[in-house]
Amino acid sequence: MDSDQMSLERMLKHQIIARGIDNPRVLEAMRAVPRHLFVPESLRDQAYEDYPLPIGYGQTISQPYIVALMTDILKLEKHHKVLEIGTGSGYQSAILSLLASRVITIEHKETLWKKAKDRLNSYPNILCIYGNGYEGYPLEAPYDRILLTAAPPNIPQALLDQLTPKGILVAPVGEFHQKLVRITKEQNNQLHEEYICDVIFVPMIPEKE
Ligand code: SAH
Repeated sequence: MDSDQMSLERMLKHQIIARGIDNPRVLEAMRAVPRHLFVPESLRDQAYEDYPLPIGYGQTISQPYIVALMTDILKLEKHHKVLEIGTGSGYQSAILSLLASRVITIEHKETLWKKAKDRLNSYPNILCIYGNGYEGYPLEAPYDRILLTAAPPNIPQALLDQLTPKGILVAPVGEFHQKLVRITKEQNNQLHEEYICDVIFVPMIPEKE
């Protein structure tokens, strides 16, 4: 085992499993994605630490535990089509892609989109889109699962509309202190919302920016 792998194993044990995430598929996916390749070169030795890291342009790669938690509560199945808003480094997209059939991920910052697209080249079931996630991505809708990794003040209606019946959407919501919520679309299209925990995410960039 090299030192990156050792850091990864330590991260899984102390940050993820110790905090109650024991879904073997989630742990396996996290074990399979080399997080150190998704952070800036200069921060590589901190890639497996218990906090988010800057990836440039005021954006961050989420803390490992938050990535694991969001992935876990999405309850992904292998046949699912997933929409992610906020590609960022591409780390979360890579993890999702190992647990679903297809991932469409949207990034609003062109430079981050380009970098992530290159990085994710070896993940054939990820489509990287450059655009604003407020509108979702109607071309590939509907989605079994939708994940937001930037926080809107309220969940955009377009995203709820693009969710399949029985679909699940996970998002941080709110202006300053955000709440992570899970919204399930019932068979009759009614929405059921659950509060998961308090979180801090970068704000989702509004439509008109
Ligand atoms: N999932 C990412 C976390 C990225 S941080 C990772 O694993 O690294 C959130 C990202 O959302 C940032 O890259 C930001 O540029 C992007 N973002 C913010 N508002 C957006 C919007 N309206 N549409 C698409 N992407 C957006």
